[in-house]
Amino acid sequence: EVRVRFAPSPTGFLHIGGLRTALYNYLFARANNGKFIVRIEDTDQTRVVDGATSSILSTLEWAGLHPQESPEKGGEFGPYIQSERIKSYQAIANKLVDSGAAYRCFCSQRRLAILKKDQIKRKETGRYDNRCRELTDAEINSNLDQKVPYVIRLRLKDEFHQIEDALFGKVSHNAHFEGDPVILKSDGFPTYHLANVVDDHMMQISHVIRGKEWLTSTTKHVQIYEALGWEVPTFMHLPLLINKDGSKLSKRQGDVYVEESRAKGYSPCALLNFMAYYGSGFPNINFPVCASNHYELLNILEQSFNPYRLVLSDAIVDFSKLDDFSTLLTKHKFESSDKKVMQGVRKELYQLLEQKFEKELIFNQEEFTATEIDKYLNGILCSRKGHIVKLNDLIKEEYDYLWCRPQPLISEEDTMFHEFLYDFIRYGLIHVLSRFLNTVTWEPLDVETIASYLNNHGREKGLHYPKVMKFLRKLLSGREQGPKIVDLLLMLNKRESLLRLDIALS
Ligand code: GLU
Repeated sequence: EVRVRFAPSPTGFLHIGGLRTALYNYLFARANNGKFIVRIEDTDQTRVVDGATSSILSTLEWAGLHPQESPEKGGEFGPYIQSERIKSYQAIANKLVDSGAAYRCFCSQRRLAILKKDQIKRKETGRYDNRCRELTDAEINSNLDQKVPYVIRLRLKDEFHQIEDALFGKVSHNAHFEGDPVILKSDGFPTYHLANVVDDHMMQISHVIRGKEWLTSTTKHVQIYEALGWEVPTFMHLPLLINKDGSKLSKRQGDVYVEESRAKGYSPCALLNFMAYYGSGFPNINFPVCASNHYELLNILEQSFNPYRLVLSDAIVDFSKLDDFSTLLTKHKFESSDKKVMQGVRKELYQLLEQKFEKELIFNQEEFTATEIDKYLNGILCSRKGHIVKLNDLIKEEYDYLWCRPQPLISEEDTMFHEFLYDFIRYGLIHVLSRFLNTVTWEPLDVETIASYLNNHGREKGLHYPKVMKFLRKLLSGREQGPKIVDLLLMLNKRESLLRLDIALS
């Protein structure tokens, strides 16, 4: 049976690289009728951040990557949180000491610090010199009698160690040059290497799919498997997502934490598309996939997923792609012919509006029937598709005038200088607009017609088109800048447009 796991450390929010690893594990499990497992790796207690575990788990749920086994779900192979399995790690570390595959190291922090300082002086990379490998039984017993604190280190093979990776093929690395790694710390907590191997074994993980940054550690892990006589799982390391300069994706480039993007209003669909696009391995897909929800998207990805078609070089991520994808997905959604989808969008928008504006919201100030509200929202969705990245952009301050009736912005100069403009608007425009807006079906034709009316009619009266537009914008939105007047009229709809003009001119 295929069993894969995503094993985040609860040191903060979920990094998008982590979401990518989780997505690929999830798809691999689904494509192979296997199980997707989530395990929390919290053995480095100094780095554990309060609330990180629940935030990571809820973010995975939000993205639709539901595990079959996890700390929340439980399962036959628990515990799914490493700090709850400490006794097993200790027992196994001792077993490794007994067999000679590992040894106790009594070196003090002070000695290690001096060693490191010397190495830095000689421009060498810091590594343990494996001194305690050679301790005699008598030395060990005397240290134990005197209760000298110790760690347990793995006795690495002194030669190159080769492992097989499902994507990268044969990889050899001489971990020995790094010095023997600690597998159990003096406080009795295991390090990543030991806990990771023990858990993968105990949880019967068949494929270890994780970021390429762990590839060299794998040579150590395999030595632990071999020392314990355990079956080695298949390793599949994923190329990394990186910045232009080759460094790890960092804050400077964009929102590297999924929670941040989520809080800003990006949809799971946008993020998953973004991950899959840069992650590669979907030979038949043109991104973004405009699915109606992320479950449909995950199905489509699953169908096309082929890990052996992954591009092996690291992917340079450009965060503007997330905005491009999100804009397209939002547009697609606003154009949906599925009544349920549109209803869902309107409902979501309405909730955002109620939350932000409460009593000030025009729907709460005036008598709007449900149909009028729907029509009003539709006009806005239709006009803004392609202009906004995500739905909640519509509640940004720049759009406040759509949701709360603004004070018309008329300066002294406007009144004096353009008195005749009033007449034009009062007697000509309102009359004609009410005709147009009555029949508006939101087709481009109507938009064009209105625009050309404004233009021609204005010109006949000797009015400068941009001036009329500017004036109208101020009356309708109380702002100097904003969408084109025609868009504004379409968004505000007949009823609201006429009302605002009326108020402004009365
Ligand atoms: N806890 C490790 C991490 O945070 C997991 C690495 C692995 O999957 O083995 O990335």
